[in-house]
Amino acid sequence: MSINYESNYLLPSIYDQLCAYQKDRVSQMIRDFIETNRQMNQFHFEYCPKCGQFHPVLVKAGKTKAGKQMLKCSSCHKRFVCDHEQLTYYSHQPQSKWNDLIIETQKGNSLLHTAAKINVHESTVFCMRHKYLHFIEDMESDIYGRS
Ligand SMILES: [Zn+2]
Repeated sequence: MSINYESNYLLPSIYDQLCAYQKDRVSQMIRDFIETNRQMNQFHFEYCPKCGQFHPVLVKAGKTKAGKQMLKCSSCHKRFVCDHEQLTYYSHQPQSKWNDLIIETQKGNSLLHTAAKINVHESTVFCMRHKYLHFIEDMESDIYGRS
């Protein structure tokens, strides 16, 4: 693929209003989200992040102060925050489609365009995009301490 995603995370109208440092910061943040999601997905469906149990049985175990869902592993009984829970835990869509959804949304592509690209129904894209934007809001309020 020849597209350079790093420079395409933001809508042109937004991109023009940011200074270089801010663009870097946002790009870094989005790269981190995608990487975290990728890793957390593996933890979720493959291994417990605390004890490494293969295919762990995870139960909900309250929320952090910031409202993030915590999960508890039935093998080691340790709790951990599941950052990507809001994005993919209840979703039937695989992580790869979420990653594409994130990139498509940041590029400002239409619902139809995204639906065709990741091969899901337009209304599903709408829900996924809605979830993603809420997820970003939560992330930002954690980072900047808004409450
Ligand atoms: Zn465990």
